[in-house]
Amino acid sequence: MRTDVLGVAFDNVTLEEAVDRAVALLDREGPHLVVTPNAELVQQAGRDAQFAQVLAQADLVIPDGVGVICSAKILGRPLKERVPGVDFAAALMERLAGTGRRLFLLGAKPGVAELAADRLTARYPGLMICGARDGYFREDGPVAEAIRAAGADVVFVCLGAPKQEKWIAANGQATGAGLLVGLGGALDVFAGKAKRAPQAFQRLGLEWFYRLCREPSRIGRMAKLPLILTQAVGARLRER
Ligand code: UDP
Repeated sequence: MRTDVLGVAFDNVTLEEAVDRAVALLDREGPHLVVTPNAELVQQAGRDAQFAQVLAQADLVIPDGVGVICSAKILGRPLKERVPGVDFAAALMERLAGTGRRLFLLGAKPGVAELAADRLTARYPGLMICGARDGYFREDGPVAEAIRAAGADVVFVCLGAPKQEKWIAANGQATGAGLLVGLGGALDVFAGKAKRAPQAFQRLGLEWFYRLCREPSRIGRMAKLPLILTQAVGARLRER
């Protein structure tokens, strides 16, 4: 049973449970889609039926972001914890290391995925990264084919949302990979190009605030966030 938060059905999982489920999916025939929506994407899904459908068909829907957690609480169906996409990816790589499973990194500006691959290989001994390429390409076919040729089991698809989720839905099968995870700006973080908020901010659920201070141009996107809480209050009142 999934937990509905304003039209997006989330799996009520802790970080560890999310990784367990992802690893279990790898043992079944794929492709499997993993998504990590935050409040902004819940709102976007409300306006974009195709995106909403892709999220509904995903095999694992992880609650990323304090806005989703607060909304779920307001709606009276609290989720266990916030699972940031970057933390999920890190924990999954730890589990993949030494298993012989092959990881492909797709996305971000030219050079970033390769740099992330070097750093991740050093950080997770035994992790097998079988390929990396940037997210600025015109044709999908050759990219999916390159992933297939690399023999990837898992692909981190970091093209920004909703592009990455739609890309996975359209091309997942052609890649031959068992698990494809939409991870937004994660490769920028793994390459050391973007900094995550200090632990104290993360613990307080203020990662968004730290990011806003570093990238003030995101104010337009973030200004809509409080709206989700208002929507949650409205939905709760209607459900009573
Ligand atoms: N990106 C990409 N191809 C595109 C558009 C974006 O590879 O056509 C990358 C971009 O370089 C960045 C990531 O996608 O690394 C999006 O990061 P952001 O933090 O904006 O993710 P979001 O918050 O949208 O999930």
